[in-house]
Amino acid sequence: MLILRCPYCGNDVDETDLAPGGEAHIRRHGPGSTDAELTDYLFQRENPRGVHFERWRHAAGCGKWFHAARATDTLQVFGTYSAQTTEPPQEIRDAITKARPGWSWREFS
Ligand SMILES: [Zn+2]
Repeated sequence: MLILRCPYCGNDVDETDLAPGGEAHIRRHGPGSTDAELTDYLFQRENPRGVHFERWRHAAGCGKWFHAARATDTLQVFGTYSAQTTEPPQEIRDAITKARPGWSWREFS
């Protein structure tokens, strides 16, 4: 069972009280973007075996959206953080690097 700590209310919440929101840190394209950029935004998602950044909503609690960093292969959770960020906080990146040396943050397109 996946258990995530809601960064807003501080509760450890199991997945039955959460609603998934897909991949986090997706760059949105607006007017003036190319068809390829819009297609990527609408349809292309990462599906890694390893570190992944996801959006979750504390549906049965405070109702707020947040981001979670976890490993899809081991279900290890590296941390959760506010959804009002464009990239993971440094402490989350440090936790991932400590568990998985050689890992590095990359820009999502
Ligand atoms: Zn909450």
